Amino acid sequence: MHSDQTTCDCDVCGFESARIRRMPRSYGSGDRLLVIEQVPVVSCPNCGSSYLTAVTMQAIDQIKQHRSDRSQSKPIAVASF
Ligand SMILES: [Zn+2]
Repeated sequence: MHSDQTTCDCDVCGFESARIRRMPRSYGSGDRLLVIEQVPVVSCPNCGSSYLTAVTMQAIDQIKQHRSDRSQSKPIAVASF
């Protein structure tokens, strides 16, 4: 397990110290808005890429599927400063 990992290899250029930043991402809109917090985003200072890994995208798909299993969805209010 590497739960505290904050760097990884860049999938794009192979740089060994790409940073992993945790940030909220939102999907959908209106009543279907889903905000997922602490999504790990790889940010590479070498080639400038910023992307989600395949594992991360799979996890997000699962979160979305679990959400749609529940017929009652509550609107989420999101404020931006
Ligand atoms: Zn890179």
